[in-house]
Order: sequence, then structure tokens, then C-alpha cells
Amino acid sequence: MRLSRAISVQRWVLARAQGICEGCGQPAPFLNEKNEPFFEIHHVKHLVDGGTDSTWNTVALCPNCHRRCHHSIDKHEFTQSL
Ligand SMILES: [Zn+2]
Ligand SMILES: [Zn+2]
Repeated sequence: MRLSRAISVQRWVLARAQGICEGCGQPAPFLNEKNEPFFEIHHVKHLVDGGTDSTWNTVALCPNCHRRCHHSIDKHEFTQSL
């Protein structure tokens, strides 16, 4: 199922990140309600551009870095560096 697969990818990426943002290298800014480091999942290559929902295309980012990937002036350079 599409949804459960997405969740398992998310868990795998969060385990890989070990509580450290893969964008800036800083610890998660806060814990979620499950007492786990809070990260947002970002697709390096957007799904609409042919990216896949797999672990190599997915990074765990703090909210700051995630916004940067979508809205900053250097978003393309920043995304490339991930
Ligand atoms: Zn970050
Ligand atoms: Zn994103």
C-alpha cells in the first residue's frame, strides 16, 4: 500500500538521521509528542519531477532547512548539497 510504504521510508530516514538534521547538521529543534526528534521529510527530487519515494531520494530536515529547500533564494544549490 502506498501509505504504509511512505511511512516505512520515513521511519528509515529518521533512523538514519539519528536526531541530526541532514541539512545543517544540528540536532532537531524540539521533540514531537512521541518524545522523538522532530524532522520533516523532504524529497530531494520532487515526486512530480519523477522522483521516487525511496530512501536515497528522501532526507530528514529540521523545519528551517526544509523551508529553505522550498523557499530560499539558494534553494537549488542547497538541495544539491544534500
Ligand atoms: Zn537543519
Ligand atoms: Zn520538501
